[in-house]
Amino acid sequence: MSVNILFSAAQIRWVQYEATLRGLLDKSGIDYVLATELPPQEVDYIVYAPNSDVQDFTPFRRLKAVLNLWAGVEDVVGNPTLKVPLARMVDKEGLTQGMVEWVTGHVLRHHLGMDAHILGQDGEWRAGVPPLSAERPVCILGLGTLGMACARALRHLGFPVRGWSRTLKTMAGVDCSAGEDGLTKALDDAQIVVLLLPDTPATQNILNATTLARLAPGAFVINPGRGPLIDDAALLAALDSGQVAHATLDVFRTEPLPASDPFWGHPRVTVTPHIASETRVSSASAVIVENILRGEKGKPFVHLVDRAAGY
Ligand code: NAP
Repeated sequence: MSVNILFSAAQIRWVQYEATLRGLLDKSGIDYVLATELPPQEVDYIVYAPNSDVQDFTPFRRLKAVLNLWAGVEDVVGNPTLKVPLARMVDKEGLTQGMVEWVTGHVLRHHLGMDAHILGQDGEWRAGVPPLSAERPVCILGLGTLGMACARALRHLGFPVRGWSRTLKTMAGVDCSAGEDGLTKALDDAQIVVLLLPDTPATQNILNATTLARLAPGAFVINPGRGPLIDDAALLAALDSGQVAHATLDVFRTEPLPASDPFWGHPRVTVTPHIASETRVSSASAVIVENILRGEKGKPFVHLVDRAAGY
């Protein structure tokens, strides 16, 4: 009997992924069917994007696992019809590397005050040498796959890095803290805060009026995590008061960001269109196929989502 794999994501993803997935599956030697339409009762695995047509998993009676193409699972993790393991995307060569580059770029932009020189071509000879990285504490909220990789890169550049997670981590050169009590330690007087948390009930509005006030005056906020992590009204107030000097936001509560949103055109907000990092086809396909092969060999799946924790 063949292993039947349903690819359930936007048509453009099928165009991008089909040949690479087939190449890897051919090499694996398993007898498989890979298609965008299959009778639900015959499907073994779903390669999945949470915005796909499949929202009710009940008819998939022989399903072994759902393999998410994205790192974020907030739109599928609470689906009560999903009774089989859910794996998320951990794509170190592609997604993680892309995030390290994006975060490092935006941290350095604010650290070096690049805007003043890039945008300030107005004939004014501006004085002011930026501090060195050692004088600029950075806080990373979320020390998972992406947060840890960014913490490591920023540490190598010389920034004093604090990281915060749900369970305590140990990382050379990074001041780690965890849980509610650890949050203030991570935030206190940080000059740059990077959000790399998942969107769960416990993380929503984690950056709010109270937590923003813990940062150093004139801090920079960088959010490539998820929009609901930030209380938008509190951030706008902090920008108005100068408590936050600039916010670089890649993710929003509503995407695409509506034209009427006050973040658009705000002089101290940079909006990027959820492009901080993307799953890359070749490395992500290898992760998907690895999990299918694990399932077929009776080995445990990798990158499983903790459904109770929500990520
Ligand atoms: P991950 O490996 O699951 O890491 C999540 C981190 O958040 C972990 O350190 C976890 O703590 C921490 N965390 C979760 N809930 C918490 C809580 N209540 N209190 C404190 N810490 C908490 O996820 P990842 O792969 O690094 O990805 C992080 C997020 O980035 C994704 O969920 C997604 O939303 C976002 N993302 C965005 C883009 C983009 O292009 N903008 C691309 C990819 C991903 P523990 O370590 O204790 O579990």
